[in-house]
Amino acid sequence: MQRLESLDLRNYAEHGAYLDGNVTHLSAYIRFGILSLAEVRDRAFVVDCDHASRALFLQALAKYDYARRVLALLGDEIHLAIEPLKTGWAVDSYERSLPEDIRAASTGLSCIDGFVAELRETGYLHERARRWLAAYIVHWRRIAWEAGANFVLEYAIDGDRAVNDLAWQSVASSFSDAPYTFDRTELERYSRRRFCSACPKRVDGCPFTGESERIAERLFPARGDESIVAPELRAAADTRAPAVQLPARPILLHHFGAMRPTHPAARLAPDAPAVFVNDAALYEEAGVNQVGRTIVYAALGSMRAEYRAGDFVEETLAFARLHEADGILVTESAEPALRRRFRGLGDALPVTVVPEDPFVSLEEAPDLRRFSRYWALARRSLNAVSSAANSVPLFSN
Ligand SMILES: Cc1cc2nc3c(=O)[nH]c(=O)nc-3n(C[C@H](O)[C@H](O)[C@H](O)COP(=O)(O)OP(=O)(O)OC[C@H]3O[C@@H](n4cnc5c(N)ncnc54)[C@H](O)[C@@H]3O)c2cc1C
Repeated sequence: MQRLESLDLRNYAEHGAYLDGNVTHLSAYIRFGILSLAEVRDRAFVVDCDHASRALFLQALAKYDYARRVLALLGDEIHLAIEPLKTGWAVDSYERSLPEDIRAASTGLSCIDGFVAELRETGYLHERARRWLAAYIVHWRRIAWEAGANFVLEYAIDGDRAVNDLAWQSVASSFSDAPYTFDRTELERYSRRRFCSACPKRVDGCPFTGESERIAERLFPARGDESIVAPELRAAADTRAPAVQLPARPILLHHFGAMRPTHPAARLAPDAPAVFVNDAALYEEAGVNQVGRTIVYAALGSMRAEYRAGDFVEETLAFARLHEADGILVTESAEPALRRRFRGLGDALPVTVVPEDPFVSLEEAPDLRRFSRYWALARRSLNAVSSAANSVPLFSN
C-alpha cells in the first residue's frame, strides 16, 4: 500500500524507456495480486504527473491485463508456439538448451553478462533489457525461446510464466509479425553507454554493431517477405457479473494469484473461515519460482488464514469438512493450474468463483491476436473510467 501511495509517474513517458529511467517496480506486487490492476489504475488516475506519462503507464498495465486474457483463452497452450516463426529458420535449427556461458554471465559481452548478473542478483530487469537479452539468446545464438524463457523465469521476482512466455514469443516471432532485434546505437542510447565503454568486445567482436537492416539480413538470410496470417484469438466480450449467491456456511480460499486481504471473495465473506494451502506441486505446475513462493508467503502475513501445506484440493476439502462448510468462495484466476484445482474442488462441494475487479470492461468480443487489437477496445473503457473521475480524456479513440 505504501508503494501504491508513493507511486511516482513523473517523466515515466520521457525517461521510462531508459534502463535507469523512472519505472515503478510494481510487477511482483501485480503478479501475485498483492495489488490489483484496478487499484493501480485508480491510483494512476489521480497522481500528479504529465498526461503522456499517465497514458503510457496505463498502457503498460493494459499489457498485463491483455496477457491474462490470452492466458484465460489459451490455457496451457500459451506455453507452445502460437504461430509459425517468421525468421526463415526451421524450428529444429534452434538449440534446445541454454549454453553455460550465458547462464554463467561469461559470454564476454558486457551488456549481456551484465543483464544476466543483474537478473540473478536482484531478480529484476528493465523491460528493454529483458527484450535485448531475449533477442540475443533467440536470434544471435539461435536458441529456442523456451530455453531462454525458462532460464529467466527461474530468477525473476515477478516471474509470470504466461507473461514471460508471451513476451519471448513476441521477440522470437511466434506471437508477432516479425522477429525483434536491436543494434548497438539503441543499446548505447538506452543504457547511457553503461556497458559499451568497458566492454572487451567494443572495438572488435560486438555482434550488435551495424545498421539494424544489415543485422537483420545477417541473422535471417532465408527470411521471405510472405506474411503469415495468424489465426484469430477471439475471446468473449465482458459481461456484467451476475450477483453472487453466497453459501450459508462458506469457507474462503486464498491463492497465490490474489494475495491481498481485500480480494473480491474475501470482501464478500470477511468473517468466513479462511485457508491458504502451500502446494509445491501446484507451484511447479504453474511455474511459480522460489522467490515467488517467498513473496506469496510474506504477503500471507497480512491476511487472515489458516496455513496448510500439502495437496491444494485435499487440504481445502479437509478444512471445509472441519468447519462443516457447504461451499467454497474463491477469487477467479486465469492460471490453468488453479482452474483445474477449482474444478476438482467443485466435484466435492459447490465452488463460487468471484470475478476479479476488472481493469477494463470490453463491450465487444476482442480479437486477442495482437495487443493493438485489444488496446483499441481497452482504451475506450479506460477513457470512460477516467472521465467518470473527472479528468481529461486520456486517449483519442
Ligand atoms: C522477455 C520479457 C519477459 C517478461 N517477463 C515478465 C514476467 O515474467 N512478469 C512480469 O510481470 N512482466 C514481465 N515482462 C514485462 C515487463 O518487462 C515487466 O512487467 C516490467 O519490466 C516490470 O517493471 P516495472 O514494474 O517497473 O514496469 P513499469 O514500466 O512500471 O510498468 C507497470 C506495470 O505494467 C505491467 N507491464 C509493463 N510492461 C508489461 C508487458 N510488456 N507485459 C505485461 N505487463 C507489463 C507490469 O505489471 C508492470 O509492473 C516481460 C517482458 C519481456 C520483454
